Amino acid sequence: MSEAEKLVLAEGRKEFRSKRSIPCTDCRYCLPCPEGVGIPRILAYCNMSEMYHAPETAAKHYAFLNEERADRCTECGRCMEKCPQHIDIISRLKEAHSHLTRPSSRPSTWWCRWKDR
Ligand code: SF4
Ligand code: SF4
Repeated sequence: MSEAEKLVLAEGRKEFRSKRSIPCTDCRYCLPCPEGVGIPRILAYCNMSEMYHAPETAAKHYAFLNEERADRCTECGRCMEKCPQHIDIISRLKEAHSHLTRPSSRPSTWWCRWKDR
C-alpha cells in the first residue's frame, strides 16, 4: 500500500470514528462480564443505529442477543474499571436497552424472535 493510500485510509478511519457517539474501540478489555452482557456488541449496535440512521436494523440485531442483552447488567462496575476509553458503560447500557427496545425501533419482520422482558 502506498503512503498516499495509507493516508486516505487513516483519514477515513478518523472520520468514521468521529461519527460514533460511543467511543468504543471493540478492544474487549471489559469482557468477560459476569452476567454475560455483550458489552461491545451492544455499544456497536447503538453506534450503528445513530451513524446509519438504522434503529430498526440495530434493534433486530439486539433482539437476537437474548442472554447477552443489556438488561442483565447488575451494575457491578467491573467492566468500567477495565475500559481504556473510560466509557460510562452502565449508563450506556441502560440507554441502549431503552433505545433498542422502544416500539419505534422494533423490527417488524415476522422471523425476528423479539422477547420483552
Ligand atoms: S457493570 Fe454490568 S455490564 Fe459491567 S461487568 Fe458488571 S454486570 Fe457486566
Ligand atoms: S473496554 Fe471499553 S472500549 Fe474496549 S470494548 Fe469494552 S467498552 Fe469498548
